[in-house]
Amino acid sequence: MSKRGLLGGLPERQADDPALHDCGHVRFPPTRFCSKCRSIKCEWIESKGEGRVFSWIVVRHPVPRDVYAQEVPYVVALIELEEGVRIPSNVIGCEPEDVSPACR
Ligand SMILES: [Zn+2]
Repeated sequence: MSKRGLLGGLPERQADDPALHDCGHVRFPPTRFCSKCRSIKCEWIESKGEGRVFSWIVVRHPVPRDVYAQEVPYVVALIELEEGVRIPSNVIGCEPEDVSPACR
């Protein structure tokens, strides 16, 4: 199902952009209704792409092995964006043991 189908009319945007509802509540993943005020009035906002590591795990056992054997170890993290939402992501460009809440 496309994101457009899930959101029922919001214009197509980048998969990692949050939505701002008219009450000021920012949601990710974007949803048709605001969880705070139930308004359907919302718009996409472009994420600056800046944030910090909120939580993470290091995957060391590939599942399925024949697909991910060459990828481990890798980091799956929850990134807290400056817009105030948290998104799942991988952390790349550093060793898994160097990941910490100080990572930006
Ligand atoms: Zn709202």
